[in-house]
Amino acid sequence: MLTVAIASEFNAFDGELYRYLLERILGVEVQAWKSEFEFNGCKHVRKQTGLFLKKAADAGVQHALVAIDNDGGSARGLPHKPDHQVEREVEDPDGCRVCWLLETIPSTWRAAPYRSCVVVPIQTLETWLLIIQGHTFTEPSPEQRYNRAVLKKDCFGKLPLSSQERQRIALELLKQPEALPKLSLRPSFQHFMNQVLAW
Ligand SMILES: [Zn+2]
Repeated sequence: MLTVAIASEFNAFDGELYRYLLERILGVEVQAWKSEFEFNGCKHVRKQTGLFLKKAADAGVQHALVAIDNDGGSARGLPHKPDHQVEREVEDPDGCRVCWLLETIPSTWRAAPYRSCVVVPIQTLETWLLIIQGHTFTEPSPEQRYNRAVLKKDCFGKLPLSSQERQRIALELLKQPEALPKLSLRPSFQHFMNQVLAW
């Protein structure tokens, strides 16, 4: 059993899906480190991650996942590229969110024995779920569907669902045998998976 400190926008939904994805990628049981932290939205994650990871390290946790949605557009929040200058992206309110999160991870968490990864699905976690569903995107690529509300409605339908119901539907999708092969074709998922495989 591997314990992972997970900081996500809403741990009861996003966090649980990331925990499950870690299990699938690593092939081991993963439990989320239980703490008093309750994250609420991307800005909160960005602000609290440093303290959260310090407390996790104090508690003996050595693995961490930090994730927020991209919420980007055609001219802002563009996908991460390896040649990004983190300082420049961090100062830009419309900068790259992978770089934002990289900057929030304390230096002690950047070397062994600590293992961390940052995850920014494009544009929301529902983008990945729709890719598994084989959804027909009218845009040239799934990454170019930017509207959060449309992504969520396409994924879960018009009726409001409880977070438990959304979690159940999402986990069913992630449990499909072809889920990882389909996701692995998208650069945002490759970025996540490659970090975890390096643990
Ligand atoms: Zn970046």
